This record gives sequence, structure tokens and C-alpha cells, in this order.
Amino acid sequence: MLRVEAVKKSFDGFLAVNEADLLVEKGEIIAVIGPNGAGKTTLFNLITGQLKPDTGRIIFKDEDIAGVPPYEICKKGISRSFQIVNIFNRLTVFENVQVAMLSHQKKTFNLFSPAKGQVIRETKEILDNVGLSDKASKISGSLSHGDQKVLEMAIALGNRPELLILDEPTAGLSPEETSVTIDMINRLTTDLGLTILFCEHDMELVFSIAHKIMVMQQGKSIIQAPPDQVRDNREVQEAYLGGSA
Ligand code: ADP
Ligand code: MG
Repeated sequence: MLRVEAVKKSFDGFLAVNEADLLVEKGEIIAVIGPNGAGKTTLFNLITGQLKPDTGRIIFKDEDIAGVPPYEICKKGISRSFQIVNIFNRLTVFENVQVAMLSHQKKTFNLFSPAKGQVIRETKEILDNVGLSDKASKISGSLSHGDQKVLEMAIALGNRPELLILDEPTAGLSPEETSVTIDMINRLTTDLGLTILFCEHDMELVFSIAHKIMVMQQGKSIIQAPPDQVRDNREVQEAYLGGSA
């Protein structure tokens, strides 16, 4: 579904992403790990069009999308959440998802529009999927941090993506909220057939749900393999997990 090939991105001569490779196949859950500053968020920004690579290719469903603007990439089927929560605080939970869905379908909200019923149904369905139905009428700014992270995922789902990219989906969440998020990520792939690419600091989470893990260090991808192979890889142990770890 997605193939990143030898992508480079520098900021004022500093190589934040340095020949990174990544392969994501349909239906997979792929995790990107690596220390702070390794280039994970920058890589996601390159894939979703927030940044344009200096060199390299980003192939999504047989098309090179490197440098294509974010809204175009979103229309092609890639949607994302951000490391820092990004929602409309003063809208309700329901409205946040509905706005995403309407903007994706390029409709403005019109009481008499025949599409209105469908948008409402699909918005409800997404809130069901992520477990936010009982909070649909709450003002988003009043939600807990955990619920806001989940809402952000729901907003991303409103764009009807095939590939969902999550930047640290459990950052700042309690253990209970984290386990809810894990269940949800698993359900989104098994029930909705979504493909998920995420980066995450919680290694227990990464090793329990990722089908494959890509390890980044100083902008480079040093390995992409199933969890067992990543755990046993000497280069990973030395570079990232700290030798004997
Ligand atoms: P990660 O998400 O793995 O923690 P980032 O992709 O956020 O890493 O950052 C990689 C490196 O690139 C860091 O050293 C960071 O300071 C730098 N960087 C990221 N974005 C910018 C930017 N817009 N301008 C300058 N430097 C940046
Ligand atoms: Mg980051």
C-alpha cells in the first residue's frame, strides 16, 4: 500500500530524515520506534504532505505522492492524528467528527440536504467504533486528555482513510486508557480492514500489537521486521534498546 524509498529531509543542513525506507502492506499494523529526535514525526509529515522530501520516493497505491499537498493526500486515502491533540475545542464530539466527514465529502451542512441523514449515520457509526457514543454531545474541550486523543482518531476516521497514521496515540494516557486504545487499534484493522502506521514510546504496546516494527535512528531506518526479529537484532539492541536490554 505504501512504500517509502530512500527519503531525505533536512532542516538548515541538519538531516532529520536520512534515507529512510518503509514498507506498509494492506491490513498491517506497522510501528515506527526510535529515540526522541530520530525523525519519526518528520517521516510522518513527509508521508502526509505536511513536508516535502528533498529526495526519495513515497509511493502510495502505485502513485508517487512525495510533495503532494496534505488535503490531496487525505483525499487519496491517508489520514492522521498528531502528537499534540488537534481538535475543535468548542464543538461537541459529534460536531468534530461531522465536520471532518463533511469537509471530506466537500459538503456544507444543510438542513435540507439529502446527504444529511447519511452523514449523521456515518458519524454515529464512527463514534460507536471508537467508543465515544455516550459522549457525543459533550463539548470537546471538556473531555479528558485520553478521550481527546480518541476523538482525534475519530476525526481522522471521518476522512474515510485506507491508511491511518497515528503519532504517539497513547502519549499521556493512563494504563486503562492505553489498553482501550490498543483494543481500538486492533479492532480498526480486524473489523474495518484499515491499515495502521504509528509511532510510539510504549514498547510493551508496540511489541504486543505491531505486525512489523521499523526502527529509526538519526533519521535512518535500521531495520523493519516482525517483533521477534527486531528484539533479537544486535544492531537494535546496541543502538536503541541499550545493549543487554
Ligand atoms: P521524533 O518524532 O522521532 O522525536 P522529529 O521528527 O520530531 O523526531 O525530529 C527529528 C529531528 O528533526 C529533531 O532533531 C528535530 O529537532 C528536527 N526537526 C524536526 N522538525 C523540524 C523543523 N521544522 N525545523 C528544524 N528542525 C526540525
Ligand atoms: Mg515525534
